[in-house]
Amino acid sequence: MHLVNLKDNTQQVGFKEAVKTGLGRQQGLFFVEEITPLDNIDALLAMSLPDRSKVILQHLIGDEFSPEELGQLIDNAFTFPAPVAKVDDNLYSLELFHGPTLAFKDFGGRFMAQCLTDISQGAPVTILTATSGDTGAAVAHAFHGIDNINVVILFPQGKISPLQEKLFTTLGGNIHTVAVDGDFDACQAMVKHAFDDEQMRNELHLNSANSINISRLLAQVCYYFEAFAQLDDDARKELVISVPSGNFGNLTAGLIAKALGLPIKRFIAATNLNDTVPRYLEEGEWSPKDTIATLSNAMDVSRPNNWPRIEAMIEKGIIDKDILTGMAIDEDCTQMAMKQLQALGYTSEPHAAVAYRSLCKSLKDGETGLFLGTAHPAKFRESVENILGQPLSLPQALADVAGKHSYAVEKPADYAVIKQHMFDLLK
Ligand SMILES: *Cc1c(COP(=O)(O)O)cnc(C)c1O
Repeated sequence: MHLVNLKDNTQQVGFKEAVKTGLGRQQGLFFVEEITPLDNIDALLAMSLPDRSKVILQHLIGDEFSPEELGQLIDNAFTFPAPVAKVDDNLYSLELFHGPTLAFKDFGGRFMAQCLTDISQGAPVTILTATSGDTGAAVAHAFHGIDNINVVILFPQGKISPLQEKLFTTLGGNIHTVAVDGDFDACQAMVKHAFDDEQMRNELHLNSANSINISRLLAQVCYYFEAFAQLDDDARKELVISVPSGNFGNLTAGLIAKALGLPIKRFIAATNLNDTVPRYLEEGEWSPKDTIATLSNAMDVSRPNNWPRIEAMIEKGIIDKDILTGMAIDEDCTQMAMKQLQALGYTSEPHAAVAYRSLCKSLKDGETGLFLGTAHPAKFRESVENILGQPLSLPQALADVAGKHSYAVEKPADYAVIKQHMFDLLK
């Protein structure tokens, strides 16, 4: 796989190198320069999720892994289904929350952990990642107990749901968690700073597990095909996919799926009040505001770190800008959408509700809508119960962690303090 640093095109690397380094020089993202469409999409759609994913990922990654090796990584990572649920006439939800931490980030997190464990061959690695919620849990679970790999997770204290927090702060062992006195962007800024810090990079063998890591992104391409495979011919004709977005990794993966030849008509880039991208698509001006805390807190991001990849796909003509519509949903509409979904017999949560609401506003005659169900409603139990006015039962994974002790330590949003903490832990 040929990947180029989007900020410095003299830096060109293969897939394994990009997985290992995460970010390139000048904090540039690695990305492809072109995407060759897949042959015979119909035959692919007839396959099982793991078998189809092997073809897709081998096509994208190339020969850096043998088919047997890559097949094994995929079999280890994709151990759970991604069912499409019918919500209403012409309206479907792709449920991406049936993995161990009940969010779509299990797909990318688990595939990345498989790749990195294989690539590092037992050499020490420190995964440093910022999370607005679900990334932390997925990454922590995917790496928990792997020798030689330590994971450090920074999260904004008090800004993610208590149960969600429990999913990654209660593991212990090689999983180190830090509750930062600041918002997600402050956490993300410190992670970026660490990657610019040669001493940190060299002595702690830093790697990022955020959606900037190319392996996570590629894994996510696979479930767009899985969604399509479950729809009937009619629904496939004019399919519109609404992606609840924060850092825009999920949407990037969807656009790659389209570039590979999956006949999706168009996409909706759905956000909450942190609407940098919808404003940009509408007005052409990139002007992030301060991050606002919302019900869909995994999307409380005003400087989405995957956007340069989407921009690059547009610039290089890999995708057409016209297939993208931005839509920002406020808090009242999010709550209303959850109630509407409940009335349709479908219990949902704020992130999917943002995508659903956007779809309702945008869908035209003849189109079929699919929104991504990015997390299990019980992960956001407090707000879901409040809004819907009824109790939710907890799935086993959450019931198990609810009463466990948290190992998280509290720190200020100060890079020097975080750096010292990491050296104390790991050196
Ligand atoms: C991470 C997350 C999102 C946003 O996904 P991006 O790839 O960052 O755009 C949406 N919903 C949930 C539940 C998430 O955890």
